[in-house]
Amino acid sequence: MTLSQQIVPDTDPGELVAGVRAIHASGRTRSLEWRLKQLDGLSRLVKERESDFAEALAADLGRSPSETWLGDLAGTAGEIDYARKHLKGWMKRRKESLPMAQRPGSAWVQYEPVGTVLIIGPWNYPVFLTLSPLVAAVAAGNCAIVKPSELAPATAGALARLIPEYLDPDAVKVVQGDGRTTQNLIDQGFDHILFTGGTEVGRKIMAGAAKTLTPVTLELGGKSPVIVAADADLAVAARRIAWVKLMNSGQTCIAPDYVLVDETVKDEFVDLLRAELTTMQGDEAAAGQRIVNEGHFDRLAASITSTRGVIVHGGQSERAALTMQATVIVDPDPDEPVMADEIFGPILPVLPFATANEAIRFVSARPKPLALYVFSKSSRTSDAYVSAIQSGGAVVNHVAMHCLVPALPFGGIGDSGIGSYHGRWGFETLSHRRAVLKKGTWPDPSLMYPPYSDRALKLMRKVL
Ligand code: NAD
Repeated sequence: MTLSQQIVPDTDPGELVAGVRAIHASGRTRSLEWRLKQLDGLSRLVKERESDFAEALAADLGRSPSETWLGDLAGTAGEIDYARKHLKGWMKRRKESLPMAQRPGSAWVQYEPVGTVLIIGPWNYPVFLTLSPLVAAVAAGNCAIVKPSELAPATAGALARLIPEYLDPDAVKVVQGDGRTTQNLIDQGFDHILFTGGTEVGRKIMAGAAKTLTPVTLELGGKSPVIVAADADLAVAARRIAWVKLMNSGQTCIAPDYVLVDETVKDEFVDLLRAELTTMQGDEAAAGQRIVNEGHFDRLAASITSTRGVIVHGGQSERAALTMQATVIVDPDPDEPVMADEIFGPILPVLPFATANEAIRFVSARPKPLALYVFSKSSRTSDAYVSAIQSGGAVVNHVAMHCLVPALPFGGIGDSGIGSYHGRWGFETLSHRRAVLKKGTWPDPSLMYPPYSDRALKLMRKVL
């Protein structure tokens, strides 16, 4: 079977979900042993089938094998290794103390699988953003149905073909299809849905999930700003911003979306940024970056042609090849498309600011971003920006790297998402934190039970 061939199960979604639920009800996925076996399977899948994924991502997104490893596989392997190392500790009961009135006895929180989880993935990092949620799902002892994006069909096909070879094929299923297939699945009711994608589709997922009161984690997008203060190391800022912006042609949820730079260093910063883009792209600078499809290409090309800012770098694109040069736009109008919507492509607007308050007001007047990036040599300055501006996550003196730290929760706030995962946070999200109180049968004083005497009530008021 070739990678481009689709494996679409002809099973009715109701039967499919019922079958997976039955596996969960059998209890087979609860043990530490089963969970570790799935994590081992995921680890082998990522290592042994790197070339299958590289081939699929080259077909879907024009990615090089090294970018596939860096963008999709390294982060997935990091999540798997971290979960394998810590899982036993995460699964331990957490003992809690009792208030006086409840003594003697004991109380604890025990982590139980929620049941069957639906994982819905996007096309931009189609392996990392389906397998990392799957790490959390199986680590928490759940069954899962994975629905990769139809816009990365070769990768979706590879996942459908390979996951059953490496994981328990009855407990983890892959379903391929579009939004309608996804809504049909959602209608079956799940114990949790972990969705990664755009904000508007996120609303539809939540509306669909509301019908069956299925809890959701929504990992959404948005415009993640970079603030470059006057005292920043401008060379490092330019290098790191250029590097992450070029990655996957800017089609990264936590890519720097736009830069606010102190007006006193704007020209120097823009020159450094242009130089870094030129160096990093090498021979590909003129040809440009590959965009996923015509729809996204047209949206991005229109935002370049309609800009009222100054294009200081790039600006050219070729629809037939779906390629677009990395483009820097200085001083765009804050209301034009490139500043109104998430860019999700190789375009970087740069806007000057006069005071820190102006930069804070600019960002805070817009929907809460998935990430905030601040470049400054002064901790006081970076702390001030981080505490004044709300965002899903924040990175000081770098961009996007927080998603590669499994100990940190990854997620948005407001329009950029609901809930979080990665590391222990994913385990917590997909576990039920069950409260258990255990009492003995002695003592059992009769004054606790009605009818109450005045003396009993007085005593109860003191103790309870
Ligand atoms: P998308 O929302 O279009 O699609 C995501 C998934 O939803 C796909 O599997 C798709 O088949 C499904 N879908 C589409 N329409 C649906 C509907 N009506 N009902 C149910 N399901 C539907 O997103 P995309 O274009 O694949 O990805 C790009 C977006 O994802 C960007 O906004 C980006 O910022 C965001 N994103 C966020 C993260 C994160 O971790 N927060 C990561 C990557 C991408």
